[in-house]
Amino acid sequence: MADTLVNVHNNKRSNENDVVEGRDAKKLMLWSGAVDAESDPAASFANARHEFGEHGGVNMSIEASATFTVMEPDTLRRMFAGELGPENDYFVYSRHFNPTVLNLSRQMAALEGTEAAYCTSSGMSAITAALLQLCSSGGHIVASSTLYGGTHALMSNFFPSKCNITTTFVEINDLDAVENAIVEGKTTVLYFESMANPSLKVANIPALARIGHKKGLTVVVDNTFSPMVLSPARLGADVVIHSVSKFISGGADIIAGAVCGPASLVNKMMDLHDGALMLTGPTMNAKVAFDLSERIPHLALRMKEHSHRALVFAQRLKKLGVKVLYPGLEEHPQHELLKSMGNKDYGFGGILCIDMGTVEKANKFMSYLQNYAQFGFMAVSLGYYETLMSCSGSSTSSEMSAEAQKLAGITPGLIRLSIGYIGTLEQKWGQLEKALIKFNEKH
Ligand SMILES: *Cc1c(COP(=O)(O)O)cnc(C)c1O
Repeated sequence: MADTLVNVHNNKRSNENDVVEGRDAKKLMLWSGAVDAESDPAASFANARHEFGEHGGVNMSIEASATFTVMEPDTLRRMFAGELGPENDYFVYSRHFNPTVLNLSRQMAALEGTEAAYCTSSGMSAITAALLQLCSSGGHIVASSTLYGGTHALMSNFFPSKCNITTTFVEINDLDAVENAIVEGKTTVLYFESMANPSLKVANIPALARIGHKKGLTVVVDNTFSPMVLSPARLGADVVIHSVSKFISGGADIIAGAVCGPASLVNKMMDLHDGALMLTGPTMNAKVAFDLSERIPHLALRMKEHSHRALVFAQRLKKLGVKVLYPGLEEHPQHELLKSMGNKDYGFGGILCIDMGTVEKANKFMSYLQNYAQFGFMAVSLGYYETLMSCSGSSTSSEMSAEAQKLAGITPGLIRLSIGYIGTLEQKWGQLEKALIKFNEKH
């Protein structure tokens, strides 16, 4: 037993002093290969280092350990002093870097074209940790008025009362309003969603990044609605956040998040003395990280099909006289903008909204879609292989006041549909049409 342990250590760590000498060079290695000149996220992902399993397995091993052992007592001290770290294969404790979570994080960084990334236990914890790292008490955020309900509540309720961090919400594509809301010496973050939940308003990422950088802010973009479709960091943003629970997972079985950004920010978030991730501790489990790493390789294929079906359904619904909101339709106010920013061949995203006028009509139509036509499920969340539908005003955005909802473009009869790819397109369209015919008979 003891011999085995010694052999493992000897194989992996020939000489701890050598490691220390090479430390500065190796520190860079921790995130090397992440930033890639490729503009297509799938190409950049394929260029990233492939992690093999411990025994030559085609898949990475799962490092299911909370803690890590060392040969010499002094090594622990040196790890805590920052002399030895994950860059030279020294791990302390899995609330700090875990090798499997780190591998998944490198995949996320490759996908988003950032220097580094780290994954967390939820999208909300990724948002919270990133913002707490970037803002101090007394600080200020300028954010889009159309945001995920939880993020809006975090900024309008939790941050001001618990952390003395305030937010000014602005119409994000009104560039003058954005610039005017920035308070010099106080504002440190410009925050928005690349494609907003649920209004599908698309932000002008390059223009907003220019304004943010001119004023010295960190530009943070939630890209949950449009992985592969949009690459905010390649368009100028500094930090890209994901709720990995949605399209990236694709299974509606995992809650997870990611912060993708500069290595300096990710390393700071992991600092043992004042890092927001290390100290608040929203850690991803290594087994979850492994599961997710098996899904990212087919994210590109899934996004193409989500987008293709959403576009076809949006076009056909529009023809039938339904009020449809979808950035792939020419009349969508940011259709041209999205075309100019979007990655080639990924379409316009997998979410579309229809406005049924009133919440009663929206509820009636959703119940026909689910219980009469078997088109999809009434549920919050998105990115699943089945279609999920919810009435945003009374569910995922209900944290927002009526006034805030109006500003965010959320009408009471708005149904958000996350278009799935199960079955054939014509089979699913037939079901959608069947529910619509029944609805029109009754109304
Ligand atoms: C769901 C969602 C979140 C929150 O993510 P969780 O994984 O549920 O914590 C944040 N932003 C957007 C845009 C979302 O859709």
